[in-house]
Amino acid sequence: MGYGQAPHILIVGGGYVGMYTALRLQRKLDGDEATISVVEPNSYMTYQPFLPEAAAGNLEPRHVVVPLRKVLKGCRVISGHVVAVSHEQRTASVQPPLGETFDLKYDILVICPGSVARTLPIPGLAEQGIGFKSAAEAIYLRNQVISRLDAAASATDSAVRRRALTFLFIGGGYAGIEALAELEDMARDACSYYPDLEPADMRWVLVEATGRILPEVSPAMGLYTVKQLEHRGIQVKLNTRVESLLDGHVVLGDGERFEAGTVVWTAGVKPNPMLARTDLPLDDRGRLRATAFLQVDGVADAWTAGDCAAVPDLTKGEGATTAPSAQHAVRQARRLAGNLLAELRHEPIRPYEHSYAGSVASLGLHKGVAEVYGVRLRGWPAWLMHRTYHLSRVPTVNRKARVVADWTLALFFRREIVSLGSFADPRAEFRRVASPEPATAPERPAEAPDSRAAPAAPAAIGGSAAGSTAGEAAPTGSNPPVTPTPAAAAAEANSQAAQPRS
Ligand SMILES: Cc1cc2nc3c(=O)[nH]c(=O)nc-3n(C[C@H](O)[C@H](O)[C@H](O)COP(=O)(O)OP(=O)(O)OC[C@H]3O[C@@H](n4cnc5c(N)ncnc54)[C@H](O)[C@@H]3O)c2cc1C
Repeated sequence: MGYGQAPHILIVGGGYVGMYTALRLQRKLDGDEATISVVEPNSYMTYQPFLPEAAAGNLEPRHVVVPLRKVLKGCRVISGHVVAVSHEQRTASVQPPLGETFDLKYDILVICPGSVARTLPIPGLAEQGIGFKSAAEAIYLRNQVISRLDAAASATDSAVRRRALTFLFIGGGYAGIEALAELEDMARDACSYYPDLEPADMRWVLVEATGRILPEVSPAMGLYTVKQLEHRGIQVKLNTRVESLLDGHVVLGDGERFEAGTVVWTAGVKPNPMLARTDLPLDDRGRLRATAFLQVDGVADAWTAGDCAAVPDLTKGEGATTAPSAQHAVRQARRLAGNLLAELRHEPIRPYEHSYAGSVASLGLHKGVAEVYGVRLRGWPAWLMHRTYHLSRVPTVNRKARVVADWTLALFFRREIVSLGSFADPRAEFRRVASPEPATAPERPAEAPDSRAAPAAPAAIGGSAAGSTAGEAAPTGSNPPVTPTPAAAAAEANSQAAQPRS
């Protein structure tokens, strides 16, 4: 291997693998040994295990992300998506947020764009559902749940109220269970501020296609978690499929039908589809073929790890690959950086090997489930372990301090119950007053030309969120009457669960 001058290392994706690899490389590389670029659409890395706590308001969302430009001072951070890679040409095509796609030359590729939600062709899912993988989705869901309580508390129609208070989660892995449990806990707590709402008025439903939840822990712990959730009034439907979600009207495989104002899809992940636009080898599940040394199989100067890669699991039998988890991603990043450095320095490289330590999951304040190295914990001790473990893992001292500060404040003050959904369309009110024929009533998403087709904004207090995209011309002079009709309110309830803009 000879690069002439200092080789240029290109890291695709600034998530777990990308950020930790870049951090380690910038720390260990000598002077002009190599240059590093990181291409990432967000300006930050998301610590995903803290998203449920951010959604529940236990943590400030900005504290669960790590600003890349702040921590990667020795790297060039480029905002954008890598849309294609020609490794033969050592060129990546980058789509920046503004302007034309451009080509980026490199010598060594580290490709780690992670995974995306694995969806199914269920009618209505794209229009009604939201995933749970990003800080934007966590913030949206917090606003959405609180705004549904606001809307339900003042609804005059019982069907509208019931729909607003029905929250459906699809998929029982740890992301789904933690999101559901934390949000329900937050909503239950918030109910005490609404004289007209009781926790029993809410309906929280988990639908899981297989016969168990939390496949990461033992069946006994999965069963314990089901019992815990059911004890809280959450309906857990195992071995059940969702057939349709059209207009928020839920049809389940067992024949049950109901209306839901919020639909959250957490039914697993699949490798990032951009991998198909590279000339690198993929397996039958669309993952990059990797060796145990974290090199792309049979390809020089290309490395990979994390959710997007089929990394052999040396602790298991032939053909096994490591599960998509933060636990592996962090350790693989460390090994990948070490091996890349070793290769640059013509030193031997080492295979990645780590036996899964277990899982910890938070189920709301002071509630949790954990199974670590075979030791099973429940309730408060598990919750404490969840917090201790993730505090030790969240990157940078700065983030750790902020997380501790959030938790400490929460010991003395209860959670905020304000929905700031209007953040998604802050110009709505200004558009209204600046329109040629100012109307007296606020815009309502129910009356947007096609509120279901438009990627919707979360509801604002008082129902003033608009379904139109920020930057569009305002729909002027067509504001509906202030008094909501049941049909309009139902349509508004419909429009709330669509995907936010990020
Ligand atoms: C809610 C939630 C809770 C979780 N909790 C746990 C837990 O408790 N324990 C655990 O072990 N795991 C947990 N996980 C899983 C864990 O977060 C992932 O396995 C881990 O993030 C994978 O790391 P990665 O680097 O492969 O992908 P990511 O961390 O997702 O990083 C991929 C990065 O690539 C970027 N990207 C995407 N497309 C492109 C592109 N075209 N060009 C450039 N960049 C791109 C993305 O923006 C992202 O920043 C959780 C996941 C979620 C969603």
